[in-house]
Amino acid sequence: MQKANQETEKAEDTLTIKEFQDAIREGKIEGYKCRNCGHKQIDIIDFCPVCHKSDLEKVEFAKEGKVITYTIQQVAPEQFMNEVPYAWAIVELDDGPKMTGWIPFISKSSDLPVGQRVRFIKSYLPGIVFEKV
Ligand SMILES: [Zn+2]
Repeated sequence: MQKANQETEKAEDTLTIKEFQDAIREGKIEGYKCRNCGHKQIDIIDFCPVCHKSDLEKVEFAKEGKVITYTIQQVAPEQFMNEVPYAWAIVELDDGPKMTGWIPFISKSSDLPVGQRVRFIKSYLPGIVFEKV
């Protein structure tokens, strides 16, 4: 008898969108680190966007980082309607990867200097919430 498809390669630690969202609700930021080149990414990916290898390890990232850029939202989609104004920000986490999230109670640029330290918080609010440190 021949064994079927034994060499089929599959990343051993795959992360689904649901697992990612469950982790966020538990207060954890999960993503991947490439075992080949060390690239870190918070995304559902099958292969490393830098070296194109699929040797990925599921890791938990730091909860703190700094604001790279943001926009202040005065008008928001329905699920954020009670939260305006807030900042929709790109945050670079201390261990490298960037992620998008939002920061409540930001109404003007002096509320949030670029480079501001922020921390991911476990929240009942939708999406990925950061607060100023
Ligand atoms: Zn890589």
